[in-house]
Amino acid sequence: MIYPIVKYGDPVLENPAETITEFDTPELNQFLEDMFESMYAAKGVGLAAPQIGFSRRIAVIDTSAGQDPSARLVLINPEVLRIEGAQTEEEGCLSIPGFREPVKRAKRVTIRAQNARGEVFEQTGDDLLARAFQHETDHLNGRLYITHISVLKRDLIRRKIRKLMKVGDWK
Ligand SMILES: [Zn+2]
Repeated sequence: MIYPIVKYGDPVLENPAETITEFDTPELNQFLEDMFESMYAAKGVGLAAPQIGFSRRIAVIDTSAGQDPSARLVLINPEVLRIEGAQTEEEGCLSIPGFREPVKRAKRVTIRAQNARGEVFEQTGDDLLARAFQHETDHLNGRLYITHISVLKRDLIRRKIRKLMKVGDWK
């Protein structure tokens, strides 16, 4: 099923998510399918479980946006192991639609995570994938990309969102 995307302002996005301890269950496998489906429906290249209202340390990534099945990645209980270099590109978030800002991130990132069967793996990604690793891991720690931009820019975005909330255009 396709879940609606939770928007900025919902506390689930700013709380650390809960560690997954049960693997290879029909419930987990279905949830992962639903996460991919919800991410593709929202035209994202990454989605964290809190963004569909579940405080669970699960993220899915597909930097090919559905074009390449081998690009589908499931990250359960992920952590960033190593970062190298730097890149600054515009970044957005499905939970903060309509806004994009340049964000400085590491250029190469190695993560350690578990797959749907609970097996631990490590993977290194560059550029967009490195950015997705950092963005999604941040989500699971209750951190949004706007915490990486200047206070001035962040306050401007918050003010605009408050205005949208007032007129009912932010749900
Ligand atoms: Zn996001």
